Amino acid sequence: MISNYDILIIGGGAAGFFTAINIAETNPKLKIVILERGKEVLTKVKISGGGRCNVTHACFIPNDLVKFYPRGEKELKGPFHQFCSGDTIEWFEKHGVELKIEEDGRMFPVSDSSQTIIDCFLSATKKSGIDILTGQSVQSLFKGDGYWKVDTNQQSFKCDTLVMATGSNPKIWELMESLGHTIEAPVPSLFTFNIKDARIKDLMGLSAITSVKVKDSKLKASGPLLITHWGMSGPGILRLSAWGARELAAKNYQFTLQVNWLNDTDFEETLDILKNLKEENAKKLIMKFCPFEFPKRLWESLVFASGISAETKWTDLSKKQLTALANQLTNGQFQVNGKSTFKEEFVTAGGINLKEIDFKTMQSKLHDNLYFAGEILNIDAITGGFNFQNAWTGGFLAARAITEK
Ligand SMILES: Cc1cc2nc3c(=O)[nH]c(=O)nc-3n(C[C@H](O)[C@H](O)[C@H](O)COP(=O)(O)OP(=O)(O)OC[C@H]3O[C@@H](n4cnc5c(N)ncnc54)[C@H](O)[C@@H]3O)c2cc1C
Repeated sequence: MISNYDILIIGGGAAGFFTAINIAETNPKLKIVILERGKEVLTKVKISGGGRCNVTHACFIPNDLVKFYPRGEKELKGPFHQFCSGDTIEWFEKHGVELKIEEDGRMFPVSDSSQTIIDCFLSATKKSGIDILTGQSVQSLFKGDGYWKVDTNQQSFKCDTLVMATGSNPKIWELMESLGHTIEAPVPSLFTFNIKDARIKDLMGLSAITSVKVKDSKLKASGPLLITHWGMSGPGILRLSAWGARELAAKNYQFTLQVNWLNDTDFEETLDILKNLKEENAKKLIMKFCPFEFPKRLWESLVFASGISAETKWTDLSKKQLTALANQLTNGQFQVNGKSTFKEEFVTAGGINLKEIDFKTMQSKLHDNLYFAGEILNIDAITGGFNFQNAWTGGFLAARAITEK
């Protein structure tokens, strides 16, 4: 038996639902189905943002927003001028969900529960008469003359328009490859660094605003760094992991990390500061007097790593020790041996090559009536609500193009 639909959406995740709802609300006459391979839909939305769903980010200027996307920065400029984070807030408000802004710009439903987003989507799909079929794992796609035929593990479907919203699914990428699309090889994007080093041993939980750099590379980032029991994490490290996803994979996650614990104060400036401190605090024990705004225990560790003992007074510091301390503070070198997952919040860099997509419509440049939205594309961002924003924007544009045909 073959089921006929106008629009077939593969993938019951954020991008699939957003596309379906926007199509249905613009043109209620279209017969739409969402095919989901799992038993449940919206499972990633459910666990997102620690169960709170970080829906978007309070960054409302398209040219600023794109800067959070290591892959997709150039391509998303146009789309964000059409549907940006402000539009996301308005969309959810219209659908009965109020969002709130946290201090760091992340936006969540005021309920602090991802279930609110799921309920909103399920209620909107029900109202619009969108069919949702679970346990339907798409196995093959066939392009006929003016139609698409889709086979799942259960049955066959025929439709005029196909929307691919399957996230980072290797099997679907293979199918897309068989249709002529190019797939950028998937690599993890958000991860933390494994480091075993006496300087950070037992300092788990301490954090400092740093700038970090990968030695012998142009990769650098700044932001809070968190010392963990396995190494280093925090926004600064995650930024480096996202921007360096491909380069660090090529290094097999073995590299030297350079940490400036004083963020933007460089070696020379730091040396001058230390020399002044030596004059001003001559009688004080160096271990007991941390002149910088970071944790005292970290200061003690870096002082110790500079070859300075607990009994040393500022006045006793040799030129060599001052230089060593300035070095530890501004250019601490740490050997990274592997990576760890960040709070299970893995995002994949890789997917459909962006040159093969028309970013005005999200349509494939290779096939008419084939659209894409969400993480299936080679687009990913750092944490903060940006990955969902990509799903909303892509879904909105695809829906608009489909209904304007
Ligand atoms: C733990 C975690 C927390 C996260 N938190 C946030 C957050 O708070 N904010 C944020 O912006 N981003 C977050 N992300 C990233 C965000 O969840 C993804 O970028 C987003 O879900 C991508 O949406 P999507 O619809 O493209 O893909 P998905 O949500 O992955 O949905 C794709 C759907 O397609 C289905 N599918 C796959 N293959 C087939 C097939 N062959 N047949 C039928 N169906 C198929 C899948 O089962 C899935 O349901 C988080 C990610 C994780 C893992």
